[in-house]
Amino acid sequence: MGEKMDERELKFDTTFKERGGLFDADRTLALSTRKMFDDIKADAGSIIDYLKLTYPNLPYINLDFINSPIINATACRYKGEHYIGINYGCFLLLYDMFSKMFASQQILNDIGNVALETDERKNLSAIIIDGYVAFDLYNTRICNPIDEVRGEFAMAYTAIAVRYLIFHELGHIVRGHTGYLDDTYASAFSEIESPNNEDGKIKYIDRQTMEMDADSFATNHSHLRAIVEINHPEMIPGIFKIINKNIKTFYSHWIFVIYNLLRLFLLTEFNYDKNKLAKHPPQWMRMQLILNNIHAILMINNFDNNDIITSHLRNTIESAESAFCSITFDTKNSELFWLNFLQSEHYGKEIRYNWNNLIPLLKPYALGKLPGLVDTEL
Ligand SMILES: [Zn+2]
Repeated sequence: MGEKMDERELKFDTTFKERGGLFDADRTLALSTRKMFDDIKADAGSIIDYLKLTYPNLPYINLDFINSPIINATACRYKGEHYIGINYGCFLLLYDMFSKMFASQQILNDIGNVALETDERKNLSAIIIDGYVAFDLYNTRICNPIDEVRGEFAMAYTAIAVRYLIFHELGHIVRGHTGYLDDTYASAFSEIESPNNEDGKIKYIDRQTMEMDADSFATNHSHLRAIVEINHPEMIPGIFKIINKNIKTFYSHWIFVIYNLLRLFLLTEFNYDKNKLAKHPPQWMRMQLILNNIHAILMINNFDNNDIITSHLRNTIESAESAFCSITFDTKNSELFWLNFLQSEHYGKEIRYNWNNLIPLLKPYALGKLPGLVDTEL
């Protein structure tokens, strides 16, 4: 960032002052890590340009990193301008997580030359700050994969996760959530709970419904973007040619990544009374909606591989859960995931019905149509 902030940086810093302000990568990080922050911002810029093709009225969005190690991201409209802030901790946790997975012999061992990696246990550089998962910047053991291909995959997986997160935050803007929240409650869309409950009086069910809508938006646009890349391999860098070889390869990598992204927000038992008093629906319910969307997309578009959901999903989620637990101290509990998955079906329906109540409130702020939470028109 240099010595002095320019006007854009100053606005960003002021908007997110209470959450940590603008993150100064130049002052905090080693050169190689700094470059990754620039790459992520460049990728976000290309996503925004791509979305402009569908939403020509998309406003200018001031996107940057917030100086906080806590896993979180925020979208807001403030004084008429739009912002997306990603906590640096969120990005570094993702990078640390995927690097340590690919540096381990027992994880995703069909990728690259796994024999070069070690089998010693690597632990995610996470600490808990104020009850939230955060990146331990000052106590981190860097652990990059030794095999070059696996190293590239770790970066690619991080990029896929951050891209999903950015699509999700863009969803909050495009679907009118941020405009509605600003006008009605003078508040922002912060992904994790806040001790001072700055969202004011917004009902939890409404808040959770908008989160599901942002997930639906992010899933569908991740799919559309993948199709573009699959059809134009000349547009994308080396490793993504392997990941995006076809729709089946894309989804087997993508589901692994998204499961782990949501898993960072902790897996807990289904408890209706507790779960309904949170900003987000529980992680397995988000996964359920994401999978329903993928299923609908594949069905409607008559993909040859639309069996991937039924035949590969269970395996991908199993291996994602194992991978997560082998670099954290969580106990592998895929049974709990599947049990929650089934038990929350009714709760999921409640949210899908509530979407109809929200549509008229969001309509004045949305940039395009507001489709169902499972979009069947893609
Ligand atoms: Zn959100």
